[in-house]
Amino acid sequence: MDDASNNIRVWVIDETPSETCRERLGDARRLASAMDSKVAVLLTGGSREEGEQLIQHGADIVFLADQANDDDQPVSVAQKVRTTRDVMQAYQPWVVLAGGDPPAREWAALLAADQSWQLVSPALLVTWRSDKLVVTRLNHSGRRSCRVALDSEQTVVVTMRPGVAEGLPAETERIGQLRKITLSPAEEPVVKSQRISADPARVDIRYADRLVAGGRGLGDRAGFELLGRFAETIGAGVAASRMAVDLGWIDSERQVGQTGKTVQPDLYIACGISGASHHLQGMAKAEHILAINTDPDAPIFQNAHLGLVSDLYEVLENALRRLED
Ligand code: FAD
Repeated sequence: MDDASNNIRVWVIDETPSETCRERLGDARRLASAMDSKVAVLLTGGSREEGEQLIQHGADIVFLADQANDDDQPVSVAQKVRTTRDVMQAYQPWVVLAGGDPPAREWAALLAADQSWQLVSPALLVTWRSDKLVVTRLNHSGRRSCRVALDSEQTVVVTMRPGVAEGLPAETERIGQLRKITLSPAEEPVVKSQRISADPARVDIRYADRLVAGGRGLGDRAGFELLGRFAETIGAGVAASRMAVDLGWIDSERQVGQTGKTVQPDLYIACGISGASHHLQGMAKAEHILAINTDPDAPIFQNAHLGLVSDLYEVLENALRRLED
């Protein structure tokens, strides 16, 4: 660090030396004069000539990354944050003035988070009074403004509303330094894919892989609670015969059959369903059909791959006990 680099407490960060960058540079210059500091501008893009112009407009030192990414991709916010951090680590910045547009605000917020610095956003004015940084910031979605006084001990990143400050006129004789910096390398894109299965309890029964269906054999509406618990345990959806729907035990969107939905799950467990043709029309193409019915002559057994002549409550409660153990 040479003499000119010492005491650089006020920084302006931007992608290019835009009009708003000059506005903030004007603020930074006034602030730095009051703080007896120097002003640095860090740009992630822009030409050497543009950097030199910023010196005429008030910068003491301009850090300029004048090379683009190899693949001409725009400089990512992560690159900007890492580049800023790498350059600033040799200094002790007090104030970092960033732009007010969304990309600049994102850069400012991530930089502040990365360095555990304070963030004030958005602000209209930054001044130095009685050894304190006084920021006029906007509250309530910009409807009110208030002043915040900050100790100089902690670095603060401030995003400035564009159009409220004025840049300084160019002083052609002004002397400063232009330093080339290297952009932090672009990160490799990380592609993560993950298959998230739909909640079988909510998925449309036409798209469920497994269904547990209940009929009049359940005896009452409460039977569907047990059925639901069992279905949840095996990752299945709940379906029903029309009789169960007509009895008001379950919603009609769960009805399987001629006047209901046609389903084709891997596994269909019919509990207390006789297997009327109207019902079979909607489920006969299931990959595996398991029927539980107390009546050995129930037509459902003609279509089932596996049949249990048994009380459905006995079977389901037994199965739940084993599965939940
Ligand atoms: P049930 O036929 O009364 O059968 C109940 C079964 O439960 C019996 O086999 C009994 O042995 C058994 N059972 C009783 N207690 C137990 C127990 N504790 N444990 C085990 N098993 C027990 N139906 C549909 O499902 N879907 C349709 O889309 C449809 N569309 C229709 C369209 C038309 C035009 C018509 C006329 C009918 C339609 N139906 C439809 C009705 C259909 O004909 C049957 O009446 C209905 O499917 C019977 O429902 P279920 O099997 O639940 O009742």
